[in-house]
Amino acid sequence: MKPTNNSILVDMDGTLFNFVDVFNKRLYPHNISNNLTQYDILGTQLEQSIVKAHSTIDAIFSASFYADESPHTKMITYVQNLINQFDVWFVTAPISSYHRECCVNEKRAQIQRFYGWKAAQKIIYTSEKHKVLGLYLIDDHPNIVEIQAGWKPIMVSQVWNANIHCDIRIDLRNPQVDGL
Ligand SMILES: [Mg+2]
Repeated sequence: MKPTNNSILVDMDGTLFNFVDVFNKRLYPHNISNNLTQYDILGTQLEQSIVKAHSTIDAIFSASFYADESPHTKMITYVQNLINQFDVWFVTAPISSYHRECCVNEKRAQIQRFYGWKAAQKIIYTSEKHKVLGLYLIDDHPNIVEIQAGWKPIMVSQVWNANIHCDIRIDLRNPQVDGL
């Protein structure tokens, strides 16, 4: 069982689940006013100082990080509707470290929790999403419009991709796409 040119690919962090909230609560448990995005984390936080880099890594590697991500409930429902009609695959980039297996297990548990056992068999863990066959990729990452791939990008609107042009966008609070 593999994705085909007609499959719908769906990202997890920032698309189905709220990565940012968990990250900010872990990194700044006493200051909830901080609201870094995952791209602030990767692009800025890690480069500012060794102390910030260390605390950032500690936060992401902390126990049950991925299991504690809350669902974007309307997107969860929207993707269930897609599963009922299309061959849907979850495509997610796991962190590469000794913590990888924990991350993989927690992400699988999240998919199983919301979509059941069969859907949990259809997760692809890769940072090379362009290599996965599909008709569409639904994802919040700003770079999905630059990637040369067989699928068309559908950008999940988030503050970190607000300035990126994408022909097809989807709103987390009211998810719908013409033709899907
Ligand atoms: Mg994402």
